[in-house]
Amino acid sequence: MAVPSNMLNKVEFLMRYLKNRYIFLITVFLLWAVVILVVSKPCSSCFWGKCYVDFNEQTAVVIDTNKPKEEKMADKIEKTDEQWKQQLTPEQYEITRCSGTEEPFTGKYYDFKGIGTYKCIGCGENLFSSDAKYDSGSGWPSFYQSLDPNKITELPDNSLGRQRTEIRCSKCDAHLGHVFEDGPKPTGLRYCVNSAALDFEEKEKGEKDPNDKD
Ligand SMILES: [Zn+2]
Repeated sequence: MAVPSNMLNKVEFLMRYLKNRYIFLITVFLLWAVVILVVSKPCSSCFWGKCYVDFNEQTAVVIDTNKPKEEKMADKIEKTDEQWKQQLTPEQYEITRCSGTEEPFTGKYYDFKGIGTYKCIGCGENLFSSDAKYDSGSGWPSFYQSLDPNKITELPDNSLGRQRTEIRCSKCDAHLGHVFEDGPKPTGLRYCVNSAALDFEEKEKGEKDPNDKD
């Protein structure tokens, strides 16, 4: 079968072109670069934005599993002891950072009846609503539920020879108090909180309660 002469010319031209060593090397490099671009996949974790090896696929499972944890970690507030001492009063520091307990019937919120939200003294996170506050007779502010269970971390506490459940602010790790199972309906829980661990924000007249779900 006869090869058209113009085709022969093209092949001859290409061979002559590739005989030049530098042009040959550049061509090989360009071909390699094209292959890399086609084979590689988008990647958010490297400088080039593309990966020859698919790192995304290799780490996908790990990233997915840890996602809630990473989000939580990003929200966490961590400060040194010195920074906490500067921010808090000695009583607030003793209670929230050293798991102290204020004397019953002495805190500013145990008999307080304001309408609003109780926030963490360490980080300002909204923890309890006045709607869930009740008089437990214990001498400490008591709530039958928190605003969001995710904002309160529960830890076993076996100090003082008793089994109790310590409650801490999930965001800044401030010791708040303890939760007991002798509370009123509907939860049967009693969040027993130190006044010194809380900061009260009054609900303004006519203001929609930010904690209302509807
Ligand atoms: Zn906090």
